Amino acid sequence: MTCAYRHFEHIVRINTLEKLQILADAAKYDASCASSGAQTKDSRGGKGVGSTGGVGICHSYAPDGRCISLLKVLLTNVCLYDCHYCINRRSSNVQRARFTPDEVVKLTLDFYKRNYIEGLFLSSGIVRSADYTMELVVEVARKLREDHHFRGYIHLKTIPEASDTLIAEAGRHADRISINIELPREKDLKRLAPEKSLPRTRAAMGQIKERIDEGKAERKVRFATGQSTQMIVGADPSRDSDFLHRARDLYGNFRLRRVYYSAFSPIPDASARLPLQAPPLVREHRLYQADWLMRFYKFRVDEITPNENPDLDLDIDPKLSWALRNRAFFPVDVNRAALAELYRVPGLGVRNAKRIVGIRRQTQLRVSDLIRLRVNLKKALPFLITADHHPARMEIDSERIRAIHAPKPQQLELELMPATVPETAEPPAPKTLSLPIPKAEVIGGEF
Ligand code: SF4
Repeated sequence: MTCAYRHFEHIVRINTLEKLQILADAAKYDASCASSGAQTKDSRGGKGVGSTGGVGICHSYAPDGRCISLLKVLLTNVCLYDCHYCINRRSSNVQRARFTPDEVVKLTLDFYKRNYIEGLFLSSGIVRSADYTMELVVEVARKLREDHHFRGYIHLKTIPEASDTLIAEAGRHADRISINIELPREKDLKRLAPEKSLPRTRAAMGQIKERIDEGKAERKVRFATGQSTQMIVGADPSRDSDFLHRARDLYGNFRLRRVYYSAFSPIPDASARLPLQAPPLVREHRLYQADWLMRFYKFRVDEITPNENPDLDLDIDPKLSWALRNRAFFPVDVNRAALAELYRVPGLGVRNAKRIVGIRRQTQLRVSDLIRLRVNLKKALPFLITADHHPARMEIDSERIRAIHAPKPQQLELELMPATVPETAEPPAPKTLSLPIPKAEVIGGEF
């Protein structure tokens, strides 16, 4: 019997609320909990409990903007593995707890009936073995679906080392299943998560993709409608280009619905292999924007992060960044350019680019039309031509464009010092400036 399992067996009995506090807190680091694209189900007709709207499950947001679903919980935070970036790792000195499958089922139903949640996001540390843990996770979903006819959203985190049969069983009950790839490069995974393996995770994702495809082809075979994953940003030396290449690989080969980027948060009693500081949160935001550019604006990874710029600019969005590196491409004539060229104009989103192609069949577009379409003119005007606007070459080549859109430098506040400072007093800690996430830039918006 392993040490971790002995620990697991000897966890002192604590009440459900205390367990929930421990296990919900332990789950908060996983960002891959969104439910977009889940199949709509309902309990009309008097059968079953709960329903899932197209908009998905209920979310709450942590103070740093991270999305957290209301019943996002671990079955247990006991774990045999020793992933250095994880607070639940074997060597971590945290209080451990575990739920039985019945306890999670009861909590889910109780919260659901009180309208606190619309679904369950369930993950777990690995106890005894990957298969044993997966059996417990699947048991929760099976009981909810088969014994209680629960129609709400279920997202199960699966374990790549678990048997194919169990992963298939998980997919049969869940709306979404996911396996966290954690880090984009195998060499960093070996250093920070020695029990995990990128090829094994990719193989499991491949099996899940096949089952999802089979489920879609043979409509009677129910299987989760999608898979997603998460990568931790800033725990290892990977460059932004590494994250984007890995995301491209996962979208292309396994048709993942989403790749989530989660800025590494320093954890208590952290391993010496980890950086002392979290990366700026804006890096996570820029990765999401770059991810959006790849998926919807048809940018290639080597265009967003070319060899000479493997990291995204933090001060401006990646589309503007590309435009400033490729000024010769502009100006783009909105009345003539191909749709793919319109996608490249900063401030012009996919939806507006399509609208423009439709409108120009009837009339020549002018700036006033772009205003009506709510195009971000401050960003777009230096890069496009309309019937009544033609930017001068000087304007496109101006260095001021970047300065206009980059956050203004912040002045450090001067603090009033006391008239006399005791000799033993510590000097005040230096203040650091970090780039805020620009409020106007919305992930997936028109940028
Ligand atoms: S397997 Fe999961 S829970 Fe266990 S240490 Fe690694 S990341 Fe944490």
